[in-house]
Amino acid sequence: MPKKVANQFQSHIAKALQQKDITSFEYELSVPQGLAYFEARISHLKESQQMMVIIRDITEQHKAAESIRQHAYFDSLTSLPNRFLSLDRLSQMLKEAQRSKEKVALLFLDLDDFKKVNDSLGHEVGDKLLIESAKRLQNVLRKEDTVGRLGGDEFIILLRNLNEHHNALSIAEVLLKTFREPFNIDDRELILTLSIGIALYPVNGVVASDLLRNADTAMYQAKGLGRNTYSFFTQEMNIVMQRRFAIEEQMHGALERNEFELYYQPQFDLSNNNMIGAEALLRWHNPTLGNVTPDEFIPIAEHTGLIVPIGQFVIKQALEFLSHWQHKQNKKLTMAVNLSPRQFRDKKLLSLIQKTINDLGIDFKDFELEITEGVLMGGQRYIKDALLEINSLGIKLSMDDFGTGYSSLSYLRQYNFDVLKIDRSFINGITINKSDCDLVKATIAMSHSLGLLVVAEGVETKEQLVLLKELGCDFVQGYYLSKPITAKQLINLKSDFT
Ligand code: C2E
Ligand code: CA
Ligand code: CA
Repeated sequence: MPKKVANQFQSHIAKALQQKDITSFEYELSVPQGLAYFEARISHLKESQQMMVIIRDITEQHKAAESIRQHAYFDSLTSLPNRFLSLDRLSQMLKEAQRSKEKVALLFLDLDDFKKVNDSLGHEVGDKLLIESAKRLQNVLRKEDTVGRLGGDEFIILLRNLNEHHNALSIAEVLLKTFREPFNIDDRELILTLSIGIALYPVNGVVASDLLRNADTAMYQAKGLGRNTYSFFTQEMNIVMQRRFAIEEQMHGALERNEFELYYQPQFDLSNNNMIGAEALLRWHNPTLGNVTPDEFIPIAEHTGLIVPIGQFVIKQALEFLSHWQHKQNKKLTMAVNLSPRQFRDKKLLSLIQKTINDLGIDFKDFELEITEGVLMGGQRYIKDALLEINSLGIKLSMDDFGTGYSSLSYLRQYNFDVLKIDRSFINGITINKSDCDLVKATIAMSHSLGLLVVAEGVETKEQLVLLKELGCDFVQGYYLSKPITAKQLINLKSDFT
């Protein structure tokens, strides 16, 4: 044993022996290889002043325990406290804050579009980015603050002892700023931004779980604001989120419980006042939530992916009704169905449409798919391919909500659209507002020059109808003619308006 080590050893033993009642203790020695750990057991020999000390090297056990602790509490990639330890520290911090009346902030961080990095550059680059991000976050903070990794690309920051100079707002700004600098990974410069949600103790919650949930909600808000920004939690967000959660929860199994129903809004030809077909619009009747509007539940269904099975239901139901309706009226009627961007990732969508149409013996030309510009904006290959296939099957394609987005003419030229639907918000103003009227007039002229038929949506008055006819619009739909109605009501509806 080297002399230095022997000295440490002796002093440990001597110290322990001074405390008479001690029977065993552990101690560490610094040895040339690092730290070594020992356990000493002391037995006093009966009827004698002597004692026996048994010493055992427990370095290996110690290392094993340390590694278990490391795995249990720290993230193996970034070495930051993991979810468990971060939340434990948060609870601890809140307890202390309660006593000392200090202010605490919880920042929920999410890297923007990190999934894209992983998908396009590979997980190895993704991992390196996470490690570098963790370092940047640590560099910004003081010792008493905590950074942890909650999982994936989510991080948490706990700030304590907040005051005028050290506050959540200025730290959020510094965090965003440090991410403005590009990352250098494998000789590549990468830009990665952050979205930050902030919840404050005690105003936004007094227990860890509430604060975490509220900071998460605020983070969503920051994403909604366009990312690369921060957002403070507010009570209004809470109400919105609770509603969102309730809808998400109820939507699971809603299809199986038969809670969805299709309504149909008829469309009419302005040249002869005849009904030409209908647009299928989804309705959801839920026993807990009542009737939820599609504007509210479709975006959530998109987000959760439930739009895929729901969309398949819509297509089957709408086509079955179309077949029934055409036989009943003995007439060529059309059916339009709305498609969300997410549904284009459903590989079975087009084959389902094709098979259902063939099985029912309907003409492909009588079926129409309505999409918005949002579908086209990403420019993904699979969307282009799907649109080409829709064309080649002979299914009609219609540009929905025209006038609300970029209203880009290039999309109309680039893809083979058959129909353009002018958004309700423009039709609304045509009889009172000259600029709306001029815009609708120009849109109709342009559509016709591109060979597209025009549907005016949301016609609510006779005056609008008359004006649209003058402007040369082809088809109309709207409350003035009929609200969306059930299949049974549609079958009994008069087939023209006069
Ligand atoms: P949209 O495709 O623009 O559908 C037209 C909306 O305008 C419908 O709302 C319809 O009820 C409403 N509307 C029609 N005429 C009038 C009118 O004269 N005045 C007023 N104020 N409103 C009128 P709805 O049924 O609430 O649907 C909202 C949106 O939800 C739809 O907008 C569509 O984007 C989406 N949606 C509905 N069903 C489906 C579906 O099956 N799949 C998908 N992906 N989206 C759907
Ligand atoms: Ca539509
Ligand atoms: Ca529309």
